[in-house]
Amino acid sequence: MANQTTSSASTSDVLVIGAGVIGLACAWSALKEGLTVTIVDRDFDGDRTSHGNAGGIAVTESTPISVPGFFFKAAKWLFDPLGPLALDWKHVPSALPWFLEFQRASSPARFKQISLALAALNNRVYDDLIPLFEDVGAMSTFYRRGALTLYETDEAFQADAQEWEFKKQLGVRWRALNQKEVQEFEPALAPVFKHGVFLDDWSHIGNPKQLVSQIRARIKALGAGFVEDVVTRLDVTKQDAPIAVLQTGASIAARQIVVATGAWSASLAESVGDRVLLDSERGYNTTLPQPGIVLSREVIFAERKFVATPLDIGIRIGGAAEFAGLKAGPNYKRSEALLTLGKRFLPGIQDQGAVQWMGHRPATPDSLPVIGRSPLAPSVIYAFGHGHLGLTQSATTGALVADLLVNRTPRTPLDEYSIERFRK
Ligand SMILES: Cc1cc2nc3c(=O)[nH]c(=O)nc-3n(C[C@H](O)[C@H](O)[C@H](O)COP(=O)(O)OP(=O)(O)OC[C@H]3O[C@@H](n4cnc5c(N)ncnc54)[C@H](O)[C@@H]3O)c2cc1C
Repeated sequence: MANQTTSSASTSDVLVIGAGVIGLACAWSALKEGLTVTIVDRDFDGDRTSHGNAGGIAVTESTPISVPGFFFKAAKWLFDPLGPLALDWKHVPSALPWFLEFQRASSPARFKQISLALAALNNRVYDDLIPLFEDVGAMSTFYRRGALTLYETDEAFQADAQEWEFKKQLGVRWRALNQKEVQEFEPALAPVFKHGVFLDDWSHIGNPKQLVSQIRARIKALGAGFVEDVVTRLDVTKQDAPIAVLQTGASIAARQIVVATGAWSASLAESVGDRVLLDSERGYNTTLPQPGIVLSREVIFAERKFVATPLDIGIRIGGAAEFAGLKAGPNYKRSEALLTLGKRFLPGIQDQGAVQWMGHRPATPDSLPVIGRSPLAPSVIYAFGHGHLGLTQSATTGALVADLLVNRTPRTPLDEYSIERFRK
């Protein structure tokens, strides 16, 4: 575990709650502004969503998950017990407002509005990510080799054609590949993909967990204080000195507090009085340390909704969306089902030493993160809800939060990401 300080440490300019990739990026950006920073996490060395993700810098994903027509497809998937979408029916009553809002997000007008807001973040990702990677020593494990989206059938490719054209308007660079070209790009693939889409600007990193360690080590070197404890609530009675109340009974005051607790952020926002729709969209994968085949770039299997990424620690095969809340244990049959598909599409892949994993994507129904000040307590800044794109948008979120911390006009207008959109 990193250096620990106690809650009696002198008041910092900024307290960041949560040491996933988002909280760490916020802490790094704040330190670079010359602010003093304390970061608190319930378990610095424990697993977290930011450790096990697919490692994709998925800047081309500028359309929401709730695409028009999604509900019809989703209904079909729900009848396949190991399909790409699963729902624990016990979780439905508490998640109902989330699902209703998810459905609303797929209206054509809202779909376009959300896409523009996602593109505004994704189109500036490299401007923010590269300085962070350079500073923490992550450039040697950062691979700008594009990615390939793969289609088994003409029908599926044609069904997505409109969305691909729309993505061009959002600034996404892509080109269609035929079956032969797909095979030339990635010879390890089974020859079953009739169409491919090459995504020039997608990239991937070698090891998400290592990146978290690198940023953590760097913010420690830059002077951040570390406190290991659970934050149970925020006390904003004094607007200019918000307080994080800890499970141990102690508390930490700061001039400004950043809430970056991923899928666990709703209760802290509620303690301030802010409402948010946030659910855990649980995802699964398997990492194959000695895969015995070579992939050059991340591949996305469009119809089956999973990906394979050639990380430095092996090929990671994963995806899936399971709604079962934060407390239910993992159902690793989902990892196994994805691995079975992976073996079909990457023949010859070896699974000795395979490691299974489940993580909690912090998902809002409109696929937009929550970035901005609390309207009720402006000294509290939210930075959570990045869903499928937390690694991708980490440095940009940090940069935007830093703009707020030093009272600069944010480099991207933040209205679309405000928590106020969830007000009843
Ligand atoms: C299968 C899968 C694949 C993915 N692939 C990609 C990808 O390729 N590219 C991409 O960009 N994104 C991907 N993601 C999404 C990405 O991993 C997440 O969006 C991102 O990790 C969220 O980061 P975070 O810092 O918000 O949350 P977390 O990493 O979950 O960190 C939250 C932190 O808050 C701490 N915490 C929580 N509550 C408290 C509390 N009350 N007190 C103190 N500490 C607390 C936790 O201990 C944790 O350290 C994937 C996710 C999954 C599940």
